[in-house]
Amino acid sequence: MKITLHATPDITPRPLIAEVILETRALLNIDRADVKPKGGEVVIDVPPDIYDQVAVAFEKRGATITALEQPLIKDDDECVNCGACISVCPTGVISFREDWSVQMDLDKCVQCGACVTMCPHGALTVLKS
Ligand code: SF4
Ligand code: SF4
Repeated sequence: MKITLHATPDITPRPLIAEVILETRALLNIDRADVKPKGGEVVIDVPPDIYDQVAVAFEKRGATITALEQPLIKDDDECVNCGACISVCPTGVISFREDWSVQMDLDKCVQCGACVTMCPHGALTVLKS
């Protein structure tokens, strides 16, 4: 499952993710990072079986994390299945079914927002945590 690590200025200089990996031995994968000196956020893919340990390890270091259970929503009343969002998605979340309707594999979504910008019907919304 994916989490967002909210990187505040007090924790950005620290090797927080490395510390958590060493402590938990979890194979964490950084899907997206947008961190500046004043803070930002990192989306991390966490093996579900070790999620609780990883969450505790981050939190005891003063970090705030949020589970990304629903990273993106699609308004089916607005979507016309044009497919414009498919080509811009960097992680292959969106694809056509055999009937040419659009489907999403949200486990792969890193909340980059590219599809939201591309959609001509405003059918997509990234849910910020
Ligand atoms: S926000 Fe949209 S473009 Fe970005 S990874 Fe998720 S589905 Fe793909
Ligand atoms: S770009 Fe918007 S309208 Fe087109 S398939 Fe994607 S969500 Fe639907």
